[in-house]
Amino acid sequence: MINLTITEALEKLNNREISAVELTQCYLDRIEKFGADLNCYITTTPERAMADAAASDARRASGDALPLDGIPIAMKDLFATRSIRTTAASRMLENFVPEYESTVSQKFIDAGTVLLGKANLDEFAMGTFSKTSFFGAPINPWQIEKRLTAGGSSGGSTSAVAGGLAMGATGTDTGGSIRFPSAITGLVGMKPTYGLCSRWGCVAFASSLDTPGPIARTVDDTALLLSAMAGHDEKDSTSSTNGFTYNGPLDSILGEGKKLRVGVIKEFSDVKISDDMKSLFDKRIADLKSMGAEIIEISIPNILDALAAYYIIAPAEASSNLARYDGMRYGLRVEGNDIYDTFKKSRAAGFGDEVKRRMIVGTAVLSSESYDVYFMQAARVRRLIANGFDSAFSQCDLIVCPSSAGTAMPLDAGLSPLEFYALDLFTVAMNLAGVPACSVPCGLASNGLPLGIQVVGRRFDDMRVLQLAKHIESVANVDNRPTVIMGK
Ligand code: GLN
Repeated sequence: MINLTITEALEKLNNREISAVELTQCYLDRIEKFGADLNCYITTTPERAMADAAASDARRASGDALPLDGIPIAMKDLFATRSIRTTAASRMLENFVPEYESTVSQKFIDAGTVLLGKANLDEFAMGTFSKTSFFGAPINPWQIEKRLTAGGSSGGSTSAVAGGLAMGATGTDTGGSIRFPSAITGLVGMKPTYGLCSRWGCVAFASSLDTPGPIARTVDDTALLLSAMAGHDEKDSTSSTNGFTYNGPLDSILGEGKKLRVGVIKEFSDVKISDDMKSLFDKRIADLKSMGAEIIEISIPNILDALAAYYIIAPAEASSNLARYDGMRYGLRVEGNDIYDTFKKSRAAGFGDEVKRRMIVGTAVLSSESYDVYFMQAARVRRLIANGFDSAFSQCDLIVCPSSAGTAMPLDAGLSPLEFYALDLFTVAMNLAGVPACSVPCGLASNGLPLGIQVVGRRFDDMRVLQLAKHIESVANVDNRPTVIMGK
C-alpha cells in the first residue's frame, strides 16, 4: 500500500479493495518503524488518525465519500490545528495548543483526509535545511545512512512523503520552502499563485510572501491536494476569489495545435550549478523541443538581485510578525524583574539563533536611518522583478529553470548563514512576484540523488504550470517509490 499514489489509493478505496482504516494503519506502522530515525514529525496523532479513518470508511459505506476520503496526510507544523499542539518548530510555541483550526487544515478535514501528525520544519519556517528546528532536523530518506538534509523549511513534510510516512503533505513557501525540499527528495512541490490558498491560521513569517501549497509524489496527486487547499477565504484579506479545480488526470499541454512557448531565463545561465543539474536541465529542454515546444530565451534583468531584496523584505516582515511573541498572551514566558525584563527574557529563551538574526536584520532595515536605503530599495527591486516576469510572459507561456544548484547536502555541511541564503537563488524571485511555480523531478544525478526543475507561470496560471510539470515528470520518469528509497 505504501507504493500507491493518492490517485491509485482513492480508486482502491472507492472499489472497496482497501479500507481507510487499513491504509491508515499501514502508515502508522511506517511511522512507528521509521519516524524516530527520520525525525519528520514533531507530533504524531495516531488516535486522531484512526478516528478519521473510521469516519471515512463510514462515509464511504453510506455513499457520501468526500474528494480525498481516507487519504493519510501530514500537516506542516505551521498550520494551527484545534486541540493539537502547533509549535512552528520553536521553543516559543513548544506547548501551544490552538483553540482554532487554520483554513487550510480545515479544508483537508472537509475533504475527508486522515491526519497522521504535524511535520517538522525550520523554526518559524526560517531556513533551508530544517536545521533551525528546536526539535532537531528531519533526515532525507534517500541514502539515509549519509544523513542528508530533506531540505527546508518544509523538510519534515518532504522527509515524511519521500519515506512513505504520509501520502502527501502541506508545506509553505516564502522563498522556496516547498520547492527546494521537494526537489532534493524526489518529490513534486507546488508553490501556487500568492493568494490562492488562505494564510489564515498559518503561523506568519513574511505575510506578503508566505504561500501554502501541496507536496506529493506525482503531479496529479499534487493537483488533487491543491484543489482541496485552494479557495477564497474571507478571513485572509489577500485571499483571491480565483479557485483551483482538478477534474481527474491533467491533460497534455504540448502538441495541442498552437505551439507552446517555453522560456529559459538568460540570467540564470551564468549561475554556477552542478554538472548533473546542467545536463539534466539541458536534456529536459531538448525533450520539450522534440515534443513540439518552442524554446525561447527570455530575460528578467533584475532576477539575480532577488536574493538581496528577499533577505531584506522577509526579515522586515518577520520582525513585525514575531513581535507578538512577548511572553504576555501565549507562548513561552520567562518571568523577569519588570515587564520589559519579561519581554527580553521570554524572547531570548524562546527564539533560536536564526530567528534572532532575522529579528535584528528586520528591525535594522525598518529603522528610520535605513528604511529608504534598504527597505525601499528592496521594494523597488521587487517591483522590477515582478515587471520582469510580466514582460517575459508576453514572449512565452511558461518558464522553466532549475530548482536548486545541486543534490541534497549532508546536514553537517557547515554552511555559514550567507551560504544558506545563497541556496535560495532559484526560488525567491517567484515569491517576490507572486507567480506560481512547481518543482518536479527531472532525473537522478550521478550520485544517485534526485534533482528537480521548476515550471513557472503567470499569476493564476497554476493549471498550466502543473500540466507542463506532468510532461516533464513523465519523460524524466524518476522512480521515487518509498520502498525503493528506504527498503520495505
Ligand atoms: N530558505 C528561505 C529562508 O530561509 C525560504 C524559507 C521559506 O520559504 N519559508 O527564508
